[in-house]
Amino acid sequence: MTDSHEGLFAAPPSRRLSKSKYLSGLQCLKRLYLEIHRPELATPPDASTQAILDMGTEIGRLAQQYFPGGVLVKAGFRQREAAVAETAALVHNPSIPSIFEGAFEHDGVLVRVDILERVRTSEDAPLSWRLIEVKSSTRVKDVHLDDLSVQSHVVQGVGLTLDATCLMHIDTGYLYQGGEVDLRALFAVKNMSESVTLRRGQVYEQLPVMKSALLKSDPPDIEPDQHCHVPYECPFWAHCTKRKPSRWIYHLPGKKEVVNQLVQQGITTIDDIPNGTRLSDAQRRVKDNVEWMSSELGKVLRSVTYPVHHLDIETVMLALPRFPLTRPYQPIPVQWSNHIELESGELSHQEFLHNEASEPRKQWAQALIESLGEKGSIVVYSAYEEAIIRQLAETFPEFKSAFKSILKRLWDLLPVIREHYYHPDFNGSYSIKSVLPAVVPSLGYDDLAIQAGGQAAAEYYRMVFVETDWVEQAALRESLLRYCARDTLAMVELRRALAKKNKQVGP
Ligand code: SF4
Repeated sequence: MTDSHEGLFAAPPSRRLSKSKYLSGLQCLKRLYLEIHRPELATPPDASTQAILDMGTEIGRLAQQYFPGGVLVKAGFRQREAAVAETAALVHNPSIPSIFEGAFEHDGVLVRVDILERVRTSEDAPLSWRLIEVKSSTRVKDVHLDDLSVQSHVVQGVGLTLDATCLMHIDTGYLYQGGEVDLRALFAVKNMSESVTLRRGQVYEQLPVMKSALLKSDPPDIEPDQHCHVPYECPFWAHCTKRKPSRWIYHLPGKKEVVNQLVQQGITTIDDIPNGTRLSDAQRRVKDNVEWMSSELGKVLRSVTYPVHHLDIETVMLALPRFPLTRPYQPIPVQWSNHIELESGELSHQEFLHNEASEPRKQWAQALIESLGEKGSIVVYSAYEEAIIRQLAETFPEFKSAFKSILKRLWDLLPVIREHYYHPDFNGSYSIKSVLPAVVPSLGYDDLAIQAGGQAAAEYYRMVFVETDWVEQAALRESLLRYCARDTLAMVELRRALAKKNKQVGP
């Protein structure tokens, strides 16, 4: 801490920012303006975004255990004055080694610092602090440096001396052995002081720009484009793009450089792209906007062998590993669905869902191996199933030979569709969520409570590790089963519909 505490915990200015608002302002001034003045226009976070936020909170709490004797500022995020006063008292108490969620305000910015560790190299050395931001991510990202730079601006602005500015993140190299989690191995702490110092100039430059934008009666006139997705998906995307044409140039899939070049030429819709422009196959099909099928489609579809299994696997990825011999964020399989089609067309369904917080993989694997038997193609949609099965074969040698045979029977429908069929309603996306309603209009995901893989993983986490009400748990279980079963039924119906379309146009 400096000799003089002048300005420490100063009076609030009229328009206050937070570190997250500062980051929003760096991404887009309009986003910042809308967050402050028109928050109701934002699309609320979906279940998977919320689950990521919840996991971040859990990791934040765990990181605090890394600093024994640390004290949490109890005043909540809305109790600004109380939090600032509580923090000041802890700063002035030399027996407190670390402060968690300390609140500081300077230059119109209020920050809550994850961890502020008191550093004293010797008895007579001046007091300084180590500022540590905790992230549940697996590496340092550019946006983290902006986050740290605004925090260090505020903390130094109130008169504290920073010895180091660090980022603490998850180290995916950590292999959990069971028992107590080794926090020193789970977390990597990186000193980012140099990079943060280089960014302080940006904070001085940008804060007045943000404050002045916020004083205007209207939001800044900023057009949506690539910047709306980096570093975060902007929650105002639906609002800002609601009047854009359905064939808006930013709906062109693939490399964004192509879109940028077209925009620079003044092109605003996909239909205006000049002939002769170099486009990828996927982009060309979106531009042509007509149904297309290759002459090979029928032959490829007939290459399956019966009984045809249709397999979908769902996983959960835990920042904090809970099962021995797993790493942070390693996908852990917890569910599968298998629709089995006989040559006669008869269809049956088998499924598995591990619905408790114990190690799921052995039971999962045994049931799957039994369901897939030894005969027939195994239709999947993407290479994900193969990756999960390979991983399990490595971890559990007892399943290696069964999984080896299963891997040889995998038949991926995604590249088949990508190479042999296109429908304008795909809008350039080959995700099963886009492909299914276009090819099989009677079947989609709209009637389901869970409609995407990320949401399924989030809801699984909630069912097993968070929810205590058994009625809610049962409802989640039902939703998860229905979602996974829909994915495999979708593959059955896609194969059938494509075969029918192919028959209609000839051999
Ligand atoms: S959608 Fe894009 S333009 Fe609109 S507020 Fe968000 S970042 Fe800004």
